[in-house]
Amino acid sequence: MEATEHDLERQVKEVRDAYNSGKTKEESWRRSQLKALLALLEEREDDIFEALKQDIGKHPAEAYRDEIGTLIKSVNYALGCLKQWMSWKKVTLPVVAFPSSAELVPEPLGLVLIISSWNFPFGLSLEPLIGAIAAGNGVVIKPSDLSPACSSVLANTIHTYLDSEAVKVIQGGPSVGDRLLQLKWDKILFTGSARVAKIVMAAAAKHLTPVILELGGKCPAVVDSISGSWDREVAVKRVVAGKFGTCAGQACIGIDYILGEKAFIPTLVEQIKVMIKKLFGENPKESNSISRIINKHHFLRLKALLDEPMVKASIVYGGSLDEDELFIEPTILVDPPLDATIMSEEIFGPLLPIITLEKIEDSIEFIKSRPKPLTIYAFTKNEELSRRLTYETSSGTLTFNDAIVQYAADTVPFGGTGESGFGRYHGKFSFDAFTHEKGVVRRSFLTDFWFRTPPWNDYKLQLLKSAYRFDYLNLLLITLGLKKRY
Ligand code: NAD
Repeated sequence: MEATEHDLERQVKEVRDAYNSGKTKEESWRRSQLKALLALLEEREDDIFEALKQDIGKHPAEAYRDEIGTLIKSVNYALGCLKQWMSWKKVTLPVVAFPSSAELVPEPLGLVLIISSWNFPFGLSLEPLIGAIAAGNGVVIKPSDLSPACSSVLANTIHTYLDSEAVKVIQGGPSVGDRLLQLKWDKILFTGSARVAKIVMAAAAKHLTPVILELGGKCPAVVDSISGSWDREVAVKRVVAGKFGTCAGQACIGIDYILGEKAFIPTLVEQIKVMIKKLFGENPKESNSISRIINKHHFLRLKALLDEPMVKASIVYGGSLDEDELFIEPTILVDPPLDATIMSEEIFGPLLPIITLEKIEDSIEFIKSRPKPLTIYAFTKNEELSRRLTYETSSGTLTFNDAIVQYAADTVPFGGTGESGFGRYHGKFSFDAFTHEKGVVRRSFLTDFWFRTPPWNDYKLQLLKSAYRFDYLNLLLITLGLKKRY
């Protein structure tokens, strides 16, 4: 149910008031909210499963792997680390400030707005929420209107389980998003398209609000001719699961297309076909392990990609569509034209182009000549290729020999670079994303270097030169481990 203008402002003010009361800063509040979230995820599992089934046709096992399970793990991780994250850290000061001490004191930013997408409606709303409440902020979540059942479960359960004054879900589409963006926030985390990200950034600029933009793009998978039948089969299974078995390809970090070497492509295509049948059966439309396309608009968008004549001719497997059931069969295409829409825009669906290269090393130039991806995947045992991909390409993350798995990591920052977005979260990175680390410097009155203040003369200048150069002593002590590095 969409909030009215007045209601929306009232709700945001309530969160601001709750934050200003100081309660969200307390460690006990943060812990109680994280525990409440844990209880929500465990006790309302069936409601979450049902909503994901209704909106996208996600199987409960997939929903647990990518949303509920990942979130439970993240909440437990945050609860385990909270004390350490919240602790004040002592840092050293230069010799000219002697005698003194300093600390870094983490403080919440204030009011956080999370705008999320529909493909992982719980994960993309609640993973940032974990960091935002761990950091002691008041939070408003605006989930996507394209997954209404999930948004409604989010609204009802958050309201019931968490502190309903300090954490709110406001449902609605672009117009509600737009109205929320007119208000003042202390941080906005936006997950969605580059088009809307520009609207978010422009609105944030009016209030000088910092933003994190979690966007998408085309994530390539470099697939090398891996030796060893077991290893190759595992690689192909991970490719197929990472494409078709993750929200039917409607994932920002899903494999968008494959880059492979000419001599290996026929074998690769055959192995992918066999694997699709293994994972989704002879008739994938009857399988409950593959999600549906979110809505008619996106179904028709994907259909149009395939309908381009030269693209249609490149289909080597699949290609059948059922508009009534919003189903698209896992589809493999070999060498569709590089200037076709399917190769220039993010696919976000179960269509898998395979691009033929002379040598697998050519993948590096191919990737470098395009916008920086959110993730690059590489399936290879070739150490030199791995080293070159790591060193020469740029992407939010780079994952070897699997797909999607990096999303579940608390210790690996999640986020893009260049066109795939900026800012990062998950684990401590989420805490940092919603925290201002305040530098607190304490000077002692014990002594005072008289040459640091006017009136100036040449003698003071010489002393200042010595004192600032003397600071190498600080570096030396740090290098010798006698002073802490920060
Ligand atoms: P979208 O940009 O259309 O919508 C994202 C959110 O913004 C939704 O909540 C929507 O209601 C809201 N919104 C839309 N118009 C708005 C406006 N004018 N003002 C304020 N809010 C507005 O994107 P989408 O269709 O939900 O998601 C698809 C895109 O998101 C893809 O590009 C995908 O790669 C990307 N994505 C990125 C990640 C990531 O973590 N990096 C995850 C999922 C999806």
